[in-house]
Amino acid sequence: MTHNFLSPLTGSFAMPAAENPTVAMIEAAYRHHGLDWRYLNCEVAPSALADAVRGARAMGWMGFNCSIPHKVAVIEHLDGLGESARIIGAVNTVVRRGERLIGENTDGKGFVAALSPIVHPAGKRVVLLGAGGAARAVGVEMALAGAAEITIVNRSAGRGEEVAAIIDANTPAIGRYQPWMSRYVVPEGTDILINATSIGLFPDVEAMPDIDADSLRPDMVVADGIPNPPLTPFLRAAQRRGCRTADGLGMLVNQGIVAIRYWTGIDADAAVMRRALLDLGL
Ligand code: NDP
Repeated sequence: MTHNFLSPLTGSFAMPAAENPTVAMIEAAYRHHGLDWRYLNCEVAPSALADAVRGARAMGWMGFNCSIPHKVAVIEHLDGLGESARIIGAVNTVVRRGERLIGENTDGKGFVAALSPIVHPAGKRVVLLGAGGAARAVGVEMALAGAAEITIVNRSAGRGEEVAAIIDANTPAIGRYQPWMSRYVVPEGTDILINATSIGLFPDVEAMPDIDADSLRPDMVVADGIPNPPLTPFLRAAQRRGCRTADGLGMLVNQGIVAIRYWTGIDADAAVMRRALLDLGL
């Protein structure tokens, strides 16, 4: 591969770096908007992360994404953190601001952006299934966007309690934990139900979070973080009950839009980016 090093560089530090759909999505946006920018996918081993960040500085990269296992480890190599990245404790997007590299987290921001045309989080009661990295980002960002209450429902109590406590202590929202022992009955009065577990991700495409489908009501908005496949059994069950839904492909596209805005200042076209992902078979 050859690069014109006059083109501003962005990219992803991933491990393994193979088959990263973000490359197609971001480069489609750059092309569509006539930006002579590049987004390179780099395989970076954990032991090489410090050198990789130094390399990005030296080559004047405008920013880069970090995927697992670099999302937390990268923080010590940066010059500062955005508010939500600090609360979440993880960075998925690094942004050059002057000579400084600042860590941001666009996962939750992308989720909120994808959800907002359907329902804005302000004042809403939210039930969030899961307490991993995605749930933490979504929970914190929903809380910062004005959600009134966030109930974390998770199998492992330790992780669930930790995410609830982070939301409660660092945002205006009430954060609470509920154990996920058996079939979960969604409480009455829930406005937004979100699956932020990994249940339903390819290849396990028939799997569905163990919830009581009878407790879904038509006035609820139901969202899934799973991008592949976008129409999960969870969302299909919600649609059968008359709920409005938001899929994980929308979250993926919108976290990319937020990152592109940080790097280039441009509001990228969501339809072009979604098409690029669907062309890959997502
Ligand atoms: P983690 O491994 O950090 O967390 C997984 C979560 O799923 C945990 O809460 C875990 O519970 C729960 N879980 C997994 N299997 C089960 C099960 N059988 N029953 C109950 N709970 C279960 O993953 P991430 O948070 O990083 O990612 C979660 C999903 O979010 C992934 O599928 C990923 O594709 C998606 N994602 C989507 C993005 C997008 O842009 N659309 C962005 C980032 C992530 P426990 O704690 O008990 O183990």
